[in-house]
Amino acid sequence: MDLTNIKDEDLKKCAEFHGHLGSGVTIGCRAAKYAAKLLNVELSENADIVCVSENDGCCKDAFKVLLGCSEEKGTLLFDLSDKMAFSFYDEASGKSVKLTLIDRDPELSDDEWLKMLIEKKCDELFEISEPVFEI
Ligand SMILES: [Zn+2]
Repeated sequence: MDLTNIKDEDLKKCAEFHGHLGSGVTIGCRAAKYAAKLLNVELSENADIVCVSENDGCCKDAFKVLLGCSEEKGTLLFDLSDKMAFSFYDEASGKSVKLTLIDRDPELSDDEWLKMLIEKKCDELFEISEPVFEI
């Protein structure tokens, strides 16, 4: 998909940083934005958000770009599983949320899946639960 057709400036920023627009970085971007909304924090490289990601693929770049989570700062941790699930912790408020991506319909082509990830509402893409990982 061509970046010039993307209306979401945050997604553009993530894809440019990451080097390409794929499903992984799109999932990360949507999750980061949804988490920020649910935790009531502004998207910022200086957001004091800690992320525990269950996936260490392309999605993690979006957490860096939009929430400033980084391995160097100790705010990007991994607890790898076979899920696209991410727990976010706002140290300032003590609030936290876990987002788990819905399962991909195996009938969807890669392009259809990417389009869905870009266009669907966040609450239709992710299930919300309580983080189980203690930080
Ligand atoms: Zn990628």
